[in-house]
Amino acid sequence: MALAPRRAFAAAVITLPLALVPHDRPAPWAWPLPTQRVERAFDAPRTEYGPGHRGVDLPGRPGELVRAVDAGTVTFAGQVGGVMTVTVEHGTERSTYQPVDPTVSVGDAVDRGAPLGTLLPRHPSCATTCLNLGRLRGSEYLDPAERLRSGGRFRLISPDGPPPEPPGWNGSGLVNLLGGPITSAFGMRVHPVTGERKLHDGVDIGAACGTPVPALAAGRVSRSEYRGAYGEQVEIVHDDGRATSYSHLSRRTARVGDEVAAGDIVGAVGTTGRSTGCHLHLMLLVDGNPVDPLTARG
Ligand SMILES: [Zn+2]
Repeated sequence: MALAPRRAFAAAVITLPLALVPHDRPAPWAWPLPTQRVERAFDAPRTEYGPGHRGVDLPGRPGELVRAVDAGTVTFAGQVGGVMTVTVEHGTERSTYQPVDPTVSVGDAVDRGAPLGTLLPRHPSCATTCLNLGRLRGSEYLDPAERLRSGGRFRLISPDGPPPEPPGWNGSGLVNLLGGPITSAFGMRVHPVTGERKLHDGVDIGAACGTPVPALAAGRVSRSEYRGAYGEQVEIVHDDGRATSYSHLSRRTARVGDEVAAGDIVGAVGTTGRSTGCHLHLMLLVDGNPVDPLTARG
């Protein structure tokens, strides 16, 4: 009887990293924003300075985390023609991100999916807030959509039309939002601080203190307070009645009653409450009971 939870715990630890590591070469680019959609397609300029659309525009929200499409080295972080820009070199190609308030510096090595900064409002080429993602080989502009994870397939949407349905959410989607490794799975464990054996009622995702925490799905904020061992916590009740909560935050930016959309920032990673270091304790509650967020169906 007592072994079953241990076995489940071990299985989760062994299978998770495999699901997160791509095996294909060259690996497709990861999407830099949670909304995995192209709003305006690439239109190659005929000459180096000629008209065209150098890159693709991805819809986003101001303050959203912008992530590296692949591992590489930051080669630029500053203004280009008055627009804040980050450039990452990946071997023979480079990716560019505009307009982004950078949290990285030139020379930084970044992993695929690592945060580069936050999305700034009002890119000159978008009707609404968007990220302009560029792809360069030498001085030649290439179509970034060819490298994005859908294999180049994408859907154009009208900025004036109704907003599209948010993507479904499930275990892996929950973890990918922060991009950090799972440092402790859901299940029975010996608590690192108290030494007692008890249920770990969420998953721990490692991330630097201050990393913005996005809501995993749309819903209404039902709790935003300091709550004992959980520290600073935000809880969201979703349309299907399930709830997610975000604990040990350094900062809460959502208030009780706020309506949030998937991807809205509700706080920042911290180590408040009973915690040994910066991480997010993510919980999924069904009928008020914690369940493993990584096995949830969207
Ligand atoms: Zn935890």
